[in-house]
Amino acid sequence: MSEHPIKHLAVIGVGLIGGSVARALKHAGFVGRVTGVGRSRENLDRARELGIIDHWTHDIAEAVHDADMVLIAVPMGAYDKVFAELATSLPEHALITDAGSTKQHAMDVARRYLSDLSRFVPAHPIAGTEQSGAEASFAELFEDRLCILTPLGDKDMGGVVDKKAIDAVEAMWMATGSRVIQMDAASHDDFLASVSHLPHLAAFALVNAVRKQGDEAHDPFQFAAGGFRDFTRIASSSPEMWRDIALSNSAALVDKISALQTELADMKTALSSGDGERLLETFSAAKKARDAWLEEHGGSL
Ligand code: NAD
Repeated sequence: MSEHPIKHLAVIGVGLIGGSVARALKHAGFVGRVTGVGRSRENLDRARELGIIDHWTHDIAEAVHDADMVLIAVPMGAYDKVFAELATSLPEHALITDAGSTKQHAMDVARRYLSDLSRFVPAHPIAGTEQSGAEASFAELFEDRLCILTPLGDKDMGGVVDKKAIDAVEAMWMATGSRVIQMDAASHDDFLASVSHLPHLAAFALVNAVRKQGDEAHDPFQFAAGGFRDFTRIASSSPEMWRDIALSNSAALVDKISALQTELADMKTALSSGDGERLLETFSAAKKARDAWLEEHGGSL
């Protein structure tokens, strides 16, 4: 018998996040065998060469048939396809967790396809980089970072909350080095819209606004330095992944965009009227809030 808490882990989507979870769990001795599922043969071969996974297949049913834990780490737009396949192939004893950035969407899709929701414990590790793919993964990605579990509540599930499933999934994420907390999915999506999804959209918008000011004779990017680089790092993230995240949390995100527009409109008014006092107040309030965040959380969650 395997001494590993997870004997066989199936990772659907062996990218930055799926690859990093597999690496971290192998490093911690928490998992015996890892099977990767994906679309790109090149990425899966590379993942096997790097020792992230032991085997791979394009077929979800083949990967999960004797898995005891299934991790879904695909873009939000692929959830329907993945859950539809899991609905007919998941063995009775297997637990499922995911790493998706928006949780109400993950739970809605699971409700649509799974007959037994008690084995699905949604999760979101608050850790990442702007890179994609197995090659970019690393075992330390989740070290001391928050991982938010949004277990389906009694109300959602007709009273079937499997405490053992939650404990097992929590233990898995803790073994990656994460600090695990629980939250309801709606609050998760609202908070993350503010501090993760809005900043990504703002970074994409800023780069485009600057890009559109350029022409053949004048390239504004040649004068960009550290401030521009810091602000726009996340605009190098995967466009497909962020399209999916934005669409799957659109209501909360539309609210947050309005809040940002209000701030910018206030600044525009202050600038137009030469109101330095107002600008100073606005900038000082932001500096105070950011400095306090750095002080309290060291700049990360
Ligand atoms: P990634 O692009 O590095 O990896 C995703 C992998 O899923 C790719 O290898 C892709 O080929 C594969 N894939 C796509 N559709 C598939 C399908 N239908 N079947 C099987 N495999 C499929 O992306 P990532 O950064 O690892 O993100 C994965 C998930 O984690 C996303 O839901 C994302 O929202 C979430 N997440 C990302 C970050 C981050 O910063 N990158 C942080 C936390 C959570």
